[in-house]
Amino acid sequence: MERTYIMVKPDGVQRKVVGDIVGRFESKGYQLVGMKMVQPDRSLLEDHYDSLKEKPFFPKLMDYMSSGPVIAMVWSGKDVVATGRKMLGATNPLDSAPGTIRGDYAIDVGRNIIHGSDSVESAEREIGLWFTDDELM
Ligand code: ATP
Ligand code: MG
Repeated sequence: MERTYIMVKPDGVQRKVVGDIVGRFESKGYQLVGMKMVQPDRSLLEDHYDSLKEKPFFPKLMDYMSSGPVIAMVWSGKDVVATGRKMLGATNPLDSAPGTIRGDYAIDVGRNIIHGSDSVESAEREIGLWFTDDELM
């Protein structure tokens, strides 16, 4: 079954929206197959966002993502990568539709609450970065 990597970012943990986010994926019909709280180190974050290394906002992104613990999750189910991205909403919360997670909780692209894998290939790569096989059901 298709899997995706979903991560509540430090601002989402501070804002106490983890329960709501888990509830949305459960209600939709997806299966939680792994979850843990992590204080990520820089090298893990640099690997995770490897494709953005040359972007001008990359240093700020590293500061933001290391500002507190994150909730790392793997969800499984039909079309979960693309549907999960729809549930998150657009990257910039000012463009995210109300009813999406970012649309409901954020106004700043630099504090946009949640991450979701953008393809099946990146999902498998990210799951491998954040989890060992024995941490997943
Ligand atoms: P994510 O990978 O976190 O799910 P995304 O796939 O929607 O988000 P990416 O292009 O992969 O968007 O950017 C990764 C993250 O980098 C964004 O979620 C956001 O936190 C940050 N980011 C992206 N663009 C900007 C920007 N212009 N200014 C500041 N931060 C940005
Ligand atoms: Mg991305």
